[in-house]
Amino acid sequence: MGVLFKQYLSGDKIYTCSQCKTHCTDHGQLISKAFQGRHGRAYLFSDVVNVTLGPREDRMLITGLHTVCDCYCITCNSVLGWKYEVAYEESQKYKEGKYILEKAKVQKEGSW
Ligand SMILES: [Zn+2]
Repeated sequence: MGVLFKQYLSGDKIYTCSQCKTHCTDHGQLISKAFQGRHGRAYLFSDVVNVTLGPREDRMLITGLHTVCDCYCITCNSVLGWKYEVAYEESQKYKEGKYILEKAKVQKEGSW
């Protein structure tokens, strides 16, 4: 693994890793809060920074079969959620390339 550079986001509504406060994404990237993670509620974001991806795996979710990668915080290595690589149902294609962050794994920072 190479050297990982942490990115700092400049928005005033930032989501951070709840363990180490590394910036993950900002409110402008939020697509939906109506998702279910492994630990309860989860949010769908169009882009997330400061994560590394695990191996691709096929997972049967509530909404059908998807190929996903778990995403880990680059600083503390906590699993924050996953990335949708492939969605096989036509109605779920909008999720491809997007990220799920578990509500329990992220915190809000800034002026909400
Ligand atoms: Zn972290």
